[in-house]
Parts: sequence; structure tokens; C-alpha cells
Amino acid sequence: MDIIKIKKLEVFAKHGVLPEENALGQKFLISANLYCDTRKAGRTDDLADSVNYAEVSQLLKESTQETVFRLLERLAWHLTQKILVTYPQIQKVDLEIEKPWAPVLLPLETVSVCITREWKTAYLSIGSNMGNREQYLKQAIAMLEDENTKVISQSDFIETDPVGYTNQDKFLNGAVVIKTLYSPEELLEKIASIEAKLGRERKIHWGPRTIDLDIILYEDEIIQTEKLTIPHIEMTNRQFVLEPLCQIAPYAIHPVQHKTVQELRDALK
Ligand code: AMP
Repeated sequence: MDIIKIKKLEVFAKHGVLPEENALGQKFLISANLYCDTRKAGRTDDLADSVNYAEVSQLLKESTQETVFRLLERLAWHLTQKILVTYPQIQKVDLEIEKPWAPVLLPLETVSVCITREWKTAYLSIGSNMGNREQYLKQAIAMLEDENTKVISQSDFIETDPVGYTNQDKFLNGAVVIKTLYSPEELLEKIASIEAKLGRERKIHWGPRTIDLDIILYEDEIIQTEKLTIPHIEMTNRQFVLEPLCQIAPYAIHPVQHKTVQELRDALK
């Protein structure tokens, strides 16, 4: 991807852990690499087809001065989020914030925090078999949308028989593609909070639920931790996951099996 760079934009602001920093303020130097496709602007010579770095610099200045944070880490997250949400054509941002006057009381040139944030594509499955199932699914999908997440597409809802614990009502299942700034772990927290808000209770394993949200794929990442397995461990065995997912992402690839969702769905049939 192409990069538009802003180097050492000087902004006076009041972030810091010490009360003196919040009262007196100090100089911050902000640098950003904006990853975007400049091909169209390269052909048309029209600023409207590119990212206007004067505007981004202004946004960085205003966003740095509008609030007071204690940590550079918080400010860096705030600024990358502002850029990525304001400019959909920017896919990824590297941001560095330097504090040349940091009150360290030792001879140093500068301290800084550097972060990279990027829109990631994730594939979720969603199901319900209690109460107004369709309403729960729609509510959960609406709740996925926040300043860090956009719903890109969603499948039809299909009715399926329960699997595992079969003495329960039929499920309504669907799949959703999102773009998100959350890491997989943060996304897991987000879906757990949606489940909690929609009254999900964990009484019986694989038992009835108002709502169930699972992360099926997250880019081509392979993750195995105590809390999280991606690709979802059961995705290849579950028609109710693959069928709706195939509607909206037939060519998404399972990064371990190196097969498309459509191939996995057909193999299960
Ligand atoms: P359930 O809601 O019954 O699907 O189980 C949720 C639990 O499974 C959560 O507490 C997660 O820690 C764990 N888990 C592991 N991998 C995933 C995943 N890919 N998506 C959602 N939950 C996962």
C-alpha cells in the first residue's frame, strides 16, 4: 500500500501523569504514516481522490487539544481512531507521539510512543433459540456497530436443528462480516458484553440461549489461547455456521486447512 507521511507536527497540549503537565502544558511532536491507495489521485491529479494531509494535520492538532489524557498510549489510540474513522480510504496508520520536554529530570532527547492500528476483517456467526429469535439476532448485529466496528454484510437467517444438546427449540442462525479496529481479544470482550446485555445465561453446555456470538475467522490469523481459538474450533463441523457464512463470504479462506468457506460447506454436505 502507498503511504502519505506527516512528520513531527508540533502541537502544544496538556497530557501527562503529573499535575504540572496538565496545568502548564508542553510540546508534542506527532508523526503519522497513512496507508492508502494513491493510484487514482496519481492518474487524475485531483486532491479529492487522495487524502488531504493538511486536513489530517488539522484533525490531529484539534484532537490532541480537545481532551487531556494521562498517557501517551491513550492519546495515540484516540488519534489513530479519529483518523481511521474520519477517512475510510485510510486502511492503516502508524502513529508516533514524541514528548521532547518530558519531565524526566535526566538528559534525554525525547520519549515517544509508537502504535499501528488497522481495519481488520472478521467473520462472526450468530444464533438464537429463545424468545423472539429474529429480534435478538437483529439487536446483536446493531450492537456490534460502534466507533471501532462497522458491519459490512450479513446473511439471511436460517432455521436449524439443535446440535449437541438436542432437547431444545430450533435455532435461527446467521453470519456477519465486520471491519474492526479491535484485536481478537478485544472483539471477544465486545461480543461477550453483547451476549450479557441480551440476557445470555450459561446454564447447560450447548443449551438454549437468547444469543450466541462466535468469532469464526479474523483475517488469516491463527490463535490458540486459553480464551480464544481462531479459526473457531467447530466451524468446519457446523452446517449452521458454514451455510450462512457461505452466502456472504464464500471465498474466505480457513488459514489452517487452506480451503474456502464454500469448499468446507460442500465437504460437509
Ligand atoms: P460459547 O458462547 O458457548 O460459544 O462459548 C464462549 C466461550 O468460548 C468464551 O468464553 C470464549 O472464551 C471461548 N471461545 C474460544 N474461541 C472462541 C471464538 N473463536 N469465538 C467465541 N468464543 C470463543
